[in-house]
Amino acid sequence: MKAFEPKSVLIEEQALDYELGAEIKERYEDKEVPVRMIESHNRVKWKEQMTPLELFEKAKETLVVGVKKTLRFKSCQPSADYRVVGNTSCPGRCEYCYLATNLGSAVYPRVYVNIDEILDAIKKHIKKSEKEITTFEASSSSDPIALEHITGVLGRMINFFSQRDDALLRVATKFDNIDSFLNIDHNEKTRFRYSINSAYVIREFENLTPSLTSRLQAAYKLKEAGYPVGFIIAPIMLHENWKQEYKRMIDKLATAFSDFQNSELSFELIMFRFSTRTKNIIQERYPETKLDFSKDQKKHKGFGKYVYDEETAEQLRTYLAELIKDRLPKAEIEYFV
Ligand code: SF4
Repeated sequence: MKAFEPKSVLIEEQALDYELGAEIKERYEDKEVPVRMIESHNRVKWKEQMTPLELFEKAKETLVVGVKKTLRFKSCQPSADYRVVGNTSCPGRCEYCYLATNLGSAVYPRVYVNIDEILDAIKKHIKKSEKEITTFEASSSSDPIALEHITGVLGRMINFFSQRDDALLRVATKFDNIDSFLNIDHNEKTRFRYSINSAYVIREFENLTPSLTSRLQAAYKLKEAGYPVGFIIAPIMLHENWKQEYKRMIDKLATAFSDFQNSELSFELIMFRFSTRTKNIIQERYPETKLDFSKDQKKHKGFGKYVYDEETAEQLRTYLAELIKDRLPKAEIEYFV
């Protein structure tokens, strides 16, 4: 898929004190993309008056460049000890995206240029945790690969972790611009997980993200380069022909990974869920969305949150587990939620 290029760039004054900030400014000025200086990457003031929908569209097409000031990392239990944030949001338009519904108007793809300070903060957190191995999740606030062609920040992190015996990095993504990682001597300290789904879900809801084929090709290249690789099937949805479509997805994955049938592949399975709050935001941003917000086969979990009911969840779990076991007998299902 063609890598994201913004329609305009907003740069925090302070970001120009860093080599990467100055490089990004020059890069887009050379390309004649409008570049404007801003005071803060957290509170972007738009010049235009816009409806919420126009603001969302505009924000998603804008690259914001800033300095990450909060270098105290939040916990990321149960998947990792800490969240490490090298960028925020993403240029994709997955209609169900939980990040997009949580970031409010700050939904613009945002990159941070003070990577050396972020790496220093990682060192401090490793020391503070006092664990034999401290784990970091790079995907809690963004798709960390979607903007890698602009910053190279994830590559710097992979290099950093490759030299540590006391820390591991986890990355989840749908994006395929991974060639810059293939020659890094990574020491298996970074684990990639590719988010995949049925053809229907990708076609209908995962706008501006790479196809399943591109994701599998990228995952294969990473596996071939020796990285630990896993898959996240999320959000799992009931839809017309869902059984055939998820079967086709697993068949395609098993065929793509036929060279690695005997090595470890892991799966994380996460069902579709929504809340009344996210439903309202999504329907405002995607008025034609086909996401199923009906109460059919769902149960209310409290606080306006809905998930599939037990019977439906069990049907999804057993069907997907059987598919995986049948085509990839050595694969491990880490969890189903
Ligand atoms: S790729 Fe991930 S972060 Fe980007 S819009 Fe889709 S779900 Fe959100």
